[in-house]
Amino acid sequence: MDLQHSPEDEALRAEARDWLAAHVPERPLPSLETREGFAAHRAWEARLHADRWSVVSWPREYGGRGAGLFAWLLFEQEYYAAGAPGRVSQNGINLLAPTLFDHGTEEQRARVLPPMASGEVVWAQAWSEPEAGSDLASLRSRAVPTEGGWLLNGQKTWSSRAAFADRAFGIFRSDPRADRPHQGLTYLMFDLSAPGVTVRPVGRLDGKPAFAELFLDDVFVPDEDVIGEPGRGWRIAMSSTGNERGLTLRSPGRFLAAADRLVRQWREGGEDRGVRDRVADAVIGARAYELFTWAGASRFAQGGSIGTESSLNKVFWSQYDIALHETALDLLGEDGELSDTAWAEGHLFSLAGPIYAGTNEIQRDIIAERLLGLPKGRR
Ligand SMILES: Cc1cc2nc3c(=O)[nH]c(=O)nc-3n(C[C@H](O)[C@H](O)[C@H](O)COP(=O)(O)OP(=O)(O)OC[C@H]3O[C@@H](n4cnc5c(N)ncnc54)[C@H](O)[C@@H]3O)c2cc1C
Repeated sequence: MDLQHSPEDEALRAEARDWLAAHVPERPLPSLETREGFAAHRAWEARLHADRWSVVSWPREYGGRGAGLFAWLLFEQEYYAAGAPGRVSQNGINLLAPTLFDHGTEEQRARVLPPMASGEVVWAQAWSEPEAGSDLASLRSRAVPTEGGWLLNGQKTWSSRAAFADRAFGIFRSDPRADRPHQGLTYLMFDLSAPGVTVRPVGRLDGKPAFAELFLDDVFVPDEDVIGEPGRGWRIAMSSTGNERGLTLRSPGRFLAAADRLVRQWREGGEDRGVRDRVADAVIGARAYELFTWAGASRFAQGGSIGTESSLNKVFWSQYDIALHETALDLLGEDGELSDTAWAEGHLFSLAGPIYAGTNEIQRDIIAERLLGLPKGRR
């Protein structure tokens, strides 16, 4: 792995640093899990997009800069180091867009990607169902062919930010007679404001209302919103999960910036010796994750795939995130957990890390079976 960055990538990094220094809001935006915060973050997406910082790695025709993976990683480092807001468009940008690049039509890319890049259309992921989380292939929501499209019926749950999002993407059972559960599924996009859609917030520990479940009652979806071949939805969906777990959901820049913040806080608080080792672990962990990610990105750039290794990343970053936040709360003292700080909010969210994007138990099974070649567990 060569960690010398190309002059073009360094130039993009420098340009991003200047732009962020001039544009990142001085005060943090309100939480994107609230209506007010969601709107503020949508406006931030538009601001990013206006100067082509929303999707740096996409082709220019869709609003990007055509930058490579390494440039994107450098951009992310600058982004988080500058304290820029979390990305309300992340589900669309990280999950749906790669799927459209790989499996969508030219028409779908031209129609869907530009408003996604600008934050005009914010997407929710509608994969999970009450009986289909880890065992996603047991999903029961149906897509039945009708004239000019499909009718959706069923229930989706645990959909991040769906209470305020505009559209959603998900997999539906289109052939109930298929031989195996992951066959006969179709990948579709739909409007959250379409007739027949009911969006109901699911209560969260912090009381914020953006997390939701969706009830679908004869919701019409035109043929143009089917991604790939009907019946092949499983394969299409799986092609984007590696991205989410492995790279795009948690780039190292986020943890490097958080570890820096932690060190500053530790210094300001008088360098409490009781937590010194944990602060050091946070710095080492962020750096190790960075190097591991760069190694994976190098292999990817040479034609390899991220694939199963993404499960290692997912287990690592989710556990790291919890440890980092617990250390920060301990530094804040007795009231840390109840304080109105980004650490307290981040801590609650970190607790969900081992669950979303595929639970860590399942990721460990994948690591055991596919990376270590251990025998299959009894299931
Ligand atoms: C904050 C948050 C945001 C989310 N956002 C979204 C979203 O935007 N869109 C979306 O579609 N979904 C989303 N999810 C849902 C998430 O993907 C699921 O919660 C997850 O896949 C687990 O499914 P489940 O909740 O049904 O738990 P279950 O599958 O019922 O699992 C319960 C427990 O049993 C364990 N378990 C299950 N099967 C096995 C097995 N075979 N071997 C070992 N252990 C097993 C699990 O690891 C887990 O610990 C989100 C979840 C959270 C918490």
